[in-house]
Parts: sequence; structure tokens; C-alpha cells
Amino acid sequence: MTDVVIVGAGVVGASVAFHLAERGVDTLVLDAAGCLGGQTPRSGAIIRGHHATVVEAGLAWESLTDYYERWDERVGGGCGFTRSGFAYLADEADAPAVRANVAMLRPHGLAEELLEPDELAEVEPAAVPDGISLVAYEERAGYADPVATTLGLLAAARRLGARVERARAVSVIESGGRVSGVLTDAGARRADAVLLAAGAWTPGLAAGVGVELPIRAARIQVMLYQRPYQLTTHLVMTDVANDTYLRPTADWCTLVGRHAPEREWLAGPDADTGEPDESFVRDCRERLGRRVPSMRDAAYRLGRTCALDITPDGRPVLGPTGPDGLYVAAGWSGSGFGKAPAIGAELARWMVDGGPERPELTRFGPRRFVTGELITGEHEYGATGPH
Ligand SMILES: Cc1cc2nc3c(=O)[nH]c(=O)nc-3n(C[C@H](O)[C@H](O)[C@H](O)COP(=O)(O)OP(=O)(O)OC[C@H]3O[C@@H](n4cnc5c(N)ncnc54)[C@H](O)[C@@H]3O)c2cc1C
Repeated sequence: MTDVVIVGAGVVGASVAFHLAERGVDTLVLDAAGCLGGQTPRSGAIIRGHHATVVEAGLAWESLTDYYERWDERVGGGCGFTRSGFAYLADEADAPAVRANVAMLRPHGLAEELLEPDELAEVEPAAVPDGISLVAYEERAGYADPVATTLGLLAAARRLGARVERARAVSVIESGGRVSGVLTDAGARRADAVLLAAGAWTPGLAAGVGVELPIRAARIQVMLYQRPYQLTTHLVMTDVANDTYLRPTADWCTLVGRHAPEREWLAGPDADTGEPDESFVRDCRERLGRRVPSMRDAAYRLGRTCALDITPDGRPVLGPTGPDGLYVAAGWSGSGFGKAPAIGAELARWMVDGGPERPELTRFGPRRFVTGELITGEHEYGATGPH
């Protein structure tokens, strides 16, 4: 019998395990693949404060400044955090929202600046300002190594007494309206509380105890192109005009993804996402070359595909739901890595103290999809912008 069983050892499950273990909670993490069997190892792993709601920006900023920037001190070891800086390149349609969001976030301590298009060269000489109306610039943002981050959190959790077991959760055990553990392919694991942090696999497990989560699996592709040696690094950029995001990688490449306004829905999380599409490889390089001309003819190095966990408002499902003792943290819709450290702390508070520090998080339950109270920013971006 343990206090908490966490299903899923991606970055989110690992972070919750670390924070529960820090609080002395007897924690068991189960993962069908041992760990890192989902999106996390394929993540762009971009970390930036800029978001369209204060609560999401706060989680991201706390994750950046209290964890990623001081990983060794806070968690132990390294997570590969690299401060590259981040620029949100807004087109004419998104510029008013960017202006309003920067004004909204600054009083909450986020260090964001607004730049005119012709000032972009001062922070990123490799990029041209074509099609840009306004830039939100964040100097402290960057990216990390998602595998090192997750393994670091799991190692720290283990040092504090948590256990990590390779086992597939088959169902949540419930009787009389209370959970009492998880049935796995290696037998039952009893616990007072269960957290489902199994990414795109979460709705299948929740359905077994009558909890309907509108989280759907969608295919995502990202591409890596060889960076010319004279381009040592560059900013992380969300390029709305070209509908791409890009960031440098440690092995002299530039990772490019699209926000995929047309979703490629999958039959389920186990569907084969296949090889990257040749047309996508060409398209992303063309878009990259429009913003960073020195990469116009960059060689394609490799591509990755996998299943994302998408909700109707692009925000995760968080907190207690269904039978007593059941918690969920899934449906990140492509934005869970940057916030994972702080959300791990919040979920641990929720499970131990009965609530999160940020009361706004109680709106992130699945009831919002029934009542229609979806989460949106006051100045929300179009389909291509970050949440
Ligand atoms: C290409 C790509 C780019 C991204 N870029 C960014 C970015 O730049 N910034 C950002 O913040 N976010 C980004 N994201 C999103 C972010 O990576 C995810 O939100 C985050 O990694 C989700 O972590 P997770 O722990 O919730 O889920 P996952 O990493 O999917 O982990 C789920 C785990 O559950 C396990 N599991 C599943 N079913 C079972 C079962 N029945 N029993 C036991 N274990 C089970 C799996 O093996 C897996 O290890 C990106 C995602 C992708 C795919």
C-alpha cells in the first residue's frame, strides 16, 4: 500500500513524483515503457513565460526561474537548459493581443519587452522582419533537454524515497466511489490516491471509472535542419507570419514545427504516426528560409512524429475528478514541458493540502467542457499562436 500511485513517467508524472516525495509522501510511479514512452522525449522543450493567461504564464515563469535556471540546486544535476532568448513574432492580426498580453504579464514579474520590427536585428541578426508587425522579446527564455529533465526529476524522486516501476496500468481500482489503487499487467498496486499523467493514454484509463475526458490524439511532426556553422545559435521564435516555431538544438540543427491548425486526428494514442511527410519537410524548410535566409537551403537532418493529447480549448485537464482520490494531469495540447516543474508542485499541494496555491487552477477540471466555460485568454491568439 502506498499513499499515491502515479501512472505515467513523462515529464509531468516525474515532476509530481519529485514534489510528492519532497513532501514525504510514499509514491509509486508506474510506466508501461519504464519511463519516457510518450511525447516528452520528442518534445521541442521550449521554455518561455509568454502565454495568453496569467495562470499559464505564472506556471511557466516559475518553472523557468525556480527550476530550469537553477536545476542543480533545486533538483540536482543538469537538465540542459540553454538560455537562448525567445521572440514572439506577431503579424498584423496578432499584434494587438501581443501588446495587451505583455502589458498584462509585466506586473506579474515576467520580463518581457516589446520591439518594433526593425529592432529585431538587435536581438536576432539572423532573422529578417518580413511580415512582422510587433515582437515580444523575452531574454531569459530558452530550451532544455527533455530526457535529462525527466530522468533528473525521477532520480531526485527516487533519492527521496519514491519508487518507479515498469508496469502497464490496465484499470483504476474503485469501489464505493473511492479509488484504492491501479490494476497493472503485473498485479494490483494499492494506494490511497491515483494520478493519471499518461498523456494521450489518459482518457482510456479515466473512462474505466466513468470519467469522460475530451482529450483526443493528434499526429504532430517536427523537423531538424542542419544549421550553417557560421550561425552559432539563434533565438527561439514563434513566427506567426510563417506559422512555425523554431529553436536551435545542441547538435547544430534548428528544430522547426508548425502549430498545425488543421489537426491530423488519430484513431487513438497507439495509432502509427509513421515517418514525417516529405511535403512537410519541404514546407518547413521554405518557411524557415523566409525568416532565417541563411537556412534557405539547409539540409534536412531528421524528423520526428508522435501523438499529442489535445483538448477542445488547448489547455490541460488538471486536478481531482471522478471518484474520490482520483487526479488527472493530461491534455497538454503541446505545451506541457515548459510548465511541468511548477505544475508538479501544484498537484502535490492539491493532493496533500487539498488545493493548489493558484485558485484559478480549479477551473482546469473536465467540467468546463460540459458547462462550456472553456479557458481562453482575455487577448487570445489565433490558431497559430501560443496559449
Ligand atoms: C513534437 C513536440 C513538440 C513539443 N514542444 C513543446 C515545447 O516546445 N514546449 C512545451 O512546453 N511543450 C512542448 N510539447 C508538449 C510537451 O512535450 C508535452 O506536453 C509533455 O511532454 C507531456 O508530458 P506528459 O508527462 O504529460 O506525457 P508523456 O510524455 O506522453 O508521458 C506519458 C507516459 O505515460 C506512459 N503510459 C501511457 N499509458 C500507460 C499505461 N496504461 N500504464 C503505464 N504507463 C503508461 C507512457 O509510457 C509515457 O511515458 C511538445 C510535444 C511534442 C510531441
